Formats: sequence, structure tokens, C-alpha cells
Amino acid sequence: MLSGCKEDSSGNNRRALDSVVAQGSSQQGHWSYEGETGPEHWAEIEAGSDCNGKFQSPINIVKYKENTNLKPVALYYANKTKIHDVTNNGHSIQYNFEPGDYIVVNGLRYDLKQVHFHEPSEHTIDGVRYPLEMHLVHINDSGQYTVIAVMAKEGISSIPFEFLESFLPLKPGENKIVDFPFDMNDNLPENKEYYFYIGSLTTPPCTEGVNWYIFKEPITVSLEQVELLKNLMPVNNYRNEQPHNGRQIYVSRD
Ligand SMILES: [Zn+2]
Repeated sequence: MLSGCKEDSSGNNRRALDSVVAQGSSQQGHWSYEGETGPEHWAEIEAGSDCNGKFQSPINIVKYKENTNLKPVALYYANKTKIHDVTNNGHSIQYNFEPGDYIVVNGLRYDLKQVHFHEPSEHTIDGVRYPLEMHLVHINDSGQYTVIAVMAKEGISSIPFEFLESFLPLKPGENKIVDFPFDMNDNLPENKEYYFYIGSLTTPPCTEGVNWYIFKEPITVSLEQVELLKNLMPVNNYRNEQPHNGRQIYVSRD
């Protein structure tokens, strides 16, 4: 999950942009994926954030317990829901959705807000890191998050990705109106079995209490489709693995 801070490609206007962004939010400072503003320093940079919390994401998905009571995620994705715009926010490529798509988790509705990417993946499954991880970020009326993570492996090219990437490239800070319907169902694996645990946003402010649903089956995209996103995002835009600290991970079985 990514917050909305912006970065100028030259870095020269970084302070100016930060002050503009800071006016519109409580977030201060500027974080990145390397060096003095990298993940090890997020807790210092982002005062008051959860980044040094005990129940953070991402994690390595291991020691999971089968739970036959887990129901399939109730997906209400419609083929008429439009993507409003796509932005390169300096941390990822992010597609912002118009209202319409939602999921139901524990009787609560969570609306799909945005979809973005990490290269390579943030979560690892039994220690395996995938070339790409897609985050579908949903939020409910109380401001709580549920994120669906979809891993992508390299293989045949993906038609939905072809559409999404037709709006690229975008420079950091650049934004493009899409105003086109996108059927999220086409961008998911056929098998909807998942791993579930409770963690956090993987970017500042690293807010905890996030429901994570990580589909077991990856989707397939071409090497070229991975490379296009990779070349537009910071190198290795993933946060390092966080400790489990006693959390249980469950795996569903259809
Ligand atoms: Zn993310």
C-alpha cells in the first residue's frame, strides 16, 4: 500500500513537493526504498507511524494452518467499473478506481480504491519471492484496510496487463486520466484459495490491523510486462521481511 507522496525525478524539487504534500496530510518527511530514507529508517522519518510496530507486513508465508472454516473472499468486481486515472507516485505505478468494485469480509464492505505493484514481490511464500506482486487496496467506512495480494510469475503475456500498461510510461509525479472500464476479475488467478493473516500497510505510515488475503496461485505475465513496470518504479520497491511475532497464518481450502 502506498501513500500519496510525490517525488520529482531530478530530486531538486523534493523539498518543495514535500511541503505541498505535507499541507494536505499529517505525514512528514520523505521515505524511499534505499539509503538514509529506506525501510530501516521509516519509523524515525514518519513520526507517529506504526512502522516500528509488532504486527507489520510483509512477511514470509510459512507455518500456515489449514482452516476449513475460511470462506472464499466475496468479490463483487463488475466489468463496468472504471479506472479513473493512473499515476507514477515515485514509489509505484498506481491505478485509482472509481467507486463500484468491492469485497465483503466478515460482513463488512470494503471498497476497491487502487491497485499498484511491487517488483519483486514483498511477501514470500515458503521463502519464494515472485517477480511481481500486485496489491488491490480496499477500505471500509471506518477507514480499515483489506488488501488482496496477487503474485505474478513470468510466462505468457497477460491481456489485462496489456491494457493497463497501454497508459505507460509515466514519469515520477506524472498522472494520466484513464476513464475506461476494467474488469478486475480478468486479472485474478482462477483458483481463489488464499493465505490470510493480519498485518500492516507495507509503506509509511505502516498502519496496522490490515486484513491480508494472498492468493496462492500466481497470474502469468510476460517478462516484457514485468520489465516495463520495473523500469518505471524505484529499484526493488519492496519492504524487507517483518517478524511474525506469534501471528497465525491461515490457508483456505475450497
Ligand atoms: Zn503495496
